[in-house]
Amino acid sequence: MMICAHCQTETVTWRGPLVALTHTECSRCGGVNCQQVEEQDAEDDQEDDS
Ligand SMILES: [Zn+2]
Repeated sequence: MMICAHCQTETVTWRGPLVALTHTECSRCGGVNCQQVEEQDAEDDQEDDS
């Protein structure tokens, strides 16, 4: 489970067929794709050495 950005609780689960999970849904507030995103994937790490 993932943490809902609205509820701050682990109530977000993947929805859709197991072979093609399409989105996440919070079973508490019903929010879609509202899981809390952790800042662990630093895509913006290009060095600024102009
Ligand atoms: Zn929620």
